[in-house]
Amino acid sequence: MFRGAWLGLLLALIATPVVAAPMNAFRESAVTNPHGLIAFVRQQLDQAGVALQPARERELLWGMGTAAINSNDDAALAEATLRLDGLATVAHDPVAAAAAGFLRARHDIANGLGDGLGEALKAADKVLGESDSEVVAWARFQLCDAYALDEKPAKALPLCQQAVAAYRALGDDFGIGDAENDVGIALATLNRVNDAAAAYERSREYYARAKAEQLVVMVGDNLAQMYLKQGRAREAQALSEASLKQELATGRISDALGSSTNIARAEAAQGQHRQAYARMRAAVAQARKAGINGQLIDMLKVESQLAEQAGDLRQALADEREAAQLGSAFETPALRAIEVELEQRYATREKELRISELEHANELKDLQLKAAEAETARRREQQQRQRLVNLTIALLAAALLLIVGLLVLLLRSQRRHTAELQAQTLRDPLTGMANRRAFQQRAIELLGRPREASAPLHVLLLIDIDHFKSINDSIGHPQGDRVLRLLTDYLRGAVGDASFAARIGGEEFAVLCPQAGLTAGMRLAETLRAGSAALALPKDLPVDKLTISIGVAQFDGVRCHDLSSWMRAADLALYSAKSGGRDQVVASKLVG
Ligand code: GH3
Ligand code: MG
Ligand code: MG
Repeated sequence: MFRGAWLGLLLALIATPVVAAPMNAFRESAVTNPHGLIAFVRQQLDQAGVALQPARERELLWGMGTAAINSNDDAALAEATLRLDGLATVAHDPVAAAAAGFLRARHDIANGLGDGLGEALKAADKVLGESDSEVVAWARFQLCDAYALDEKPAKALPLCQQAVAAYRALGDDFGIGDAENDVGIALATLNRVNDAAAAYERSREYYARAKAEQLVVMVGDNLAQMYLKQGRAREAQALSEASLKQELATGRISDALGSSTNIARAEAAQGQHRQAYARMRAAVAQARKAGINGQLIDMLKVESQLAEQAGDLRQALADEREAAQLGSAFETPALRAIEVELEQRYATREKELRISELEHANELKDLQLKAAEAETARRREQQQRQRLVNLTIALLAAALLLIVGLLVLLLRSQRRHTAELQAQTLRDPLTGMANRRAFQQRAIELLGRPREASAPLHVLLLIDIDHFKSINDSIGHPQGDRVLRLLTDYLRGAVGDASFAARIGGEEFAVLCPQAGLTAGMRLAETLRAGSAALALPKDLPVDKLTISIGVAQFDGVRCHDLSSWMRAADLALYSAKSGGRDQVVASKLVG
C-alpha cells in the first residue's frame, strides 16, 4: 500500500573492508529504475567474474535484490539472495547474511508467506551488535521497514524513529528521508493523520536535500493520501498529478495507477463524482490489463466507493465482489478475515441494493397507483361535471320550453284579448250588433274597393224607430231596451249575409247593401219595414206595432261621392219618410 518502504534497503556496501561500509550506492536507482539496475548488476557480475571484490559484489547484489523486490522480479530476487548467502558463507560476512535475510523477510511479508518478521529480526540480530554505526543505522531501518510493511505500526514506529535518529547522527539526508517516510507509514496506519502528514513532509524535505527528486515526488503520493483525509483535496490532487507525470515518464505503471487512484479520490472529495468515477474505471481497466491483482483489490474498493457516489450501485457491488474474489487468491488468515469482512459488506450492500430496488419499485408502484387514482378522480369529476352540465342543459331546455309555452299562451291570450277588445270597440254592447264605428269601417272599406262598371250600385238604408221616445216614456227605459233588442234580432236575421246591419245611434240603424242596386235596396227596405210592423210586441206597449221609417240612397258617385254625402242623402230620405207620415220607405233619388 505504501510506497518506498524499502528505500532504506539501498544501503550500499561499497568499500572494503567488507563490514565497514553500508550499501548506499544504488538506493535511489533501485526505486526509480529497478529494471535498469538489475540489468546493470548482472552485467557487472558477468564482466567482473571472480575478480570482483566481495564488498563490491555485496553492494551490487543488495542493489539487485532491492530492485527485484521493487519490480516484483522473483528470479532476480532469488539470484541476489542466493549469491548474498554464498558471499556470507565464503567471506564470513554478517552484513551479506543480514542483507539476504532482510530481502527474504521483505519477500515473505509482501507475499504473506512464512514468518517474515522472524526472518527480519534474525537478520538484524546478525548486525546490530556491529561497531559500524552506518551498518547499525541500516539494520535499524530494515527492521523498522519490515514492521511497517507488515502493518505492525505500534512496533514499527519506535524502530523507525530510532532509524531517523541514527541517520541524523550520520547526517545521511537520504536515510532520514527513508526513515521519516516509514515513520509516516506507521503513523498513517495508526490513523494519526496529521502526524503522518508531518512525517511525510519531513521525508520530502530530506529527500530534496539529498537531491532525490523522484523520491520527493513518490513520497508526495503518501502525503497526498493524508491530505485527502485532512480534507485538503486540491493539494492532494496537485501532488498526485505531479507523481503521475513522473511515473508515466519512467514507465512505473503500478505507481501511476496508485497516483490515478489518488487523483480520482481527490476529485471525488471536491464533488467531481462523475469525473472521478470515470478516471477510476479507466485506471482499474489498466490494472486489470497489466494483471496487477494485488493493487487491483484496493483500486476496486476505491472504484466501488466512487461508483456508489456516482449513483452506480450495481457497479459498486460488482467491484466489491471482484475485490473479494481477487482477495481470496491470497489465502492467508489476515486476508481471509478481510475477505470475510468484504463478503459481509457486499452481502449488506446487496441487501441494501435489493431494498433500494424494492423501494424504488414500490415508489414506482405508488406513483402509478397515485396516477391511476388521480386519473379516476379526474374522470369522476369530469363525469360529475358533465352530468351537471347535462342537467343544467336539460333544465334550461325545459325552462326555455316552459317560457316558450307560456309566451305562446300569453301571446294567444293577448291576441284573444286584443281581438276581443277590438271586437268590443266595433260592437254595440246593448244589442250585440255592429256599432257606428264598425259601420264606418265597413263602408269606407267598401267604397275603397274597385267596383266593376257593370255591377249595380251600392245601396245604404238608414232606419229610425218611429215615436220611440213615447215607448220609453210609457214603459220605462229598460223595457225600451228590450224593444231595441227585439228589433235588432229581427233586423239581423232579415238582412241576410249579403248585407251588413249596424246600430249607429240610439234607435237608429244602417244597412249596407254592396252592389245591390236601388231596386233590390228598396225591396229589402220594404221587407224590413213590413217585418218590423209585424213583430209581436209586449202587451204593455202604448202602440200595437213597432214601425220604422227608412231612407234609401244609392252610391252613384256623383251626388253621393263619399261616405258623408252618401249618409246625408240617406238621412234626407229618412227625414222625408218621417215627415211623410212615418212607417214608410223613401229613396233618396225621389227627394227633390
Ligand atoms: P220620431 O218618430 O220623430 O222619431 O219620434 P221619436 O220619439 O222617436 O223621436 P226621436 O227619434 O227624436 O227620439 C229618440 C228617442 O229614443 C229619445 C230617447 O229617449 C230614445 N232613446 C234613444 N236611445 C235609447 C236607448 O238606448 N234606449 C231607450 N230605451 N231609449 C232610447
Ligand atoms: Mg231618432
Ligand atoms: Mg225615432
